[in-house]
Amino acid sequence: MKIKLFLLSILFAQQIHAQSYQKIHSKAIVVDTHNDILMQAADRGMVFDQDLTGKTHSDLARWKKGGLDIQIFSVYCDGGLKNAYAYANREMDSLDAVVARNPDKIVKVANYAELLQAVKQHKIAAMFGVEGGHMIEDDLTKLEALYKRGARYLTLTHNVAPSWATSAADETTNPNLTHKGLTDFGKQVLQKMNELGMMIDVSHVGDQSFWDVIKITTKPIIASHSSVYTLVHSRRNLKDEQIKAIAKNGGVIQVNFHPGFIDSSFDRKEAVFFKAHKAESDSLLKTGMDEWYMMDKLYKKYAAEAESMRPPLSMLIDHIDYIAKLVGVDYVGLGSDFDGINLTPQQLDDVTTYPLITKALVERGYDKKDIYKILGGNILRVLKANEIK
Ligand SMILES: [Zn+2]
Repeated sequence: MKIKLFLLSILFAQQIHAQSYQKIHSKAIVVDTHNDILMQAADRGMVFDQDLTGKTHSDLARWKKGGLDIQIFSVYCDGGLKNAYAYANREMDSLDAVVARNPDKIVKVANYAELLQAVKQHKIAAMFGVEGGHMIEDDLTKLEALYKRGARYLTLTHNVAPSWATSAADETTNPNLTHKGLTDFGKQVLQKMNELGMMIDVSHVGDQSFWDVIKITTKPIIASHSSVYTLVHSRRNLKDEQIKAIAKNGGVIQVNFHPGFIDSSFDRKEAVFFKAHKAESDSLLKTGMDEWYMMDKLYKKYAAEAESMRPPLSMLIDHIDYIAKLVGVDYVGLGSDFDGINLTPQQLDDVTTYPLITKALVERGYDKKDIYKILGGNILRVLKANEIK
């Protein structure tokens, strides 16, 4: 009898726990600052107001199911591409078309007030984040035009950088750089962004560019999709001094879900996988297939092997926890990189799984108020602080 009572009380406690994380999740304003579905739309014709389950991480119905309130859509094109600005605009068109077809489900918002209005109406609020300064083609009027279309952050560099800033890839692998950090024009870009109220994103930028940004910006900055260097030594992750500097600046680090950025054993596993399938990957690349899509194809084909490479969800939480412990819970959020990464952590199969992050944070001992901040409150504070009054 006693055992029965004991088991019943455990069951009861589990139910309360389940209710509480779901309740916290549905009450929170959930923001993801980095999703690459527009790249999938441009490259593979993915129409994301249709059900794309099994093909992509994201679509309109699945965002809703995951309790997502605000999505900042990454606008990305390869650094080597000509007409990068025109390409960026075409990607923006694909979101505008989805918004036009689904006015009751998703709306483009220009500022904090519109964003809250959309949340109240239970619509997904959409903004753009332009991933790579090369898309402004060294022209401040193009920067301004992208802002007017709804871009609320610019990632200063991708791996391939514009002429006016150096990327983490440049600074760590290119011995022939003519300059490191921001040029005079780069400083003008930053000034213009501060004036417009467009957030400066330091994901992908090199250390020298990062410290130049910290010196120049008058507003809080973001890392839209980067994790912690101390836990995983990737050049795409942020070192402790950088995390501290972002906190001091009032900015926020939006943690990236990419296994290679959150699990220090992943790169080795990835190398083993592609060595085992070298003949096949080579022949796909020979057809002209982009490397990202080659990887995607092989991970899907050898699904059991790929599955065994996925890090546990707890490793993602470790990165959030690390930042919260280093500088406080006010400076960390979510920048998944869904649809820009080939593999995700275990359980986080697609955008319907955001509630599992909330569950894991509850289990780590985070209280409701802190979880609201991590899921969206922190990035909203930074967005608001960037707006011109
Ligand atoms: Zn990226």
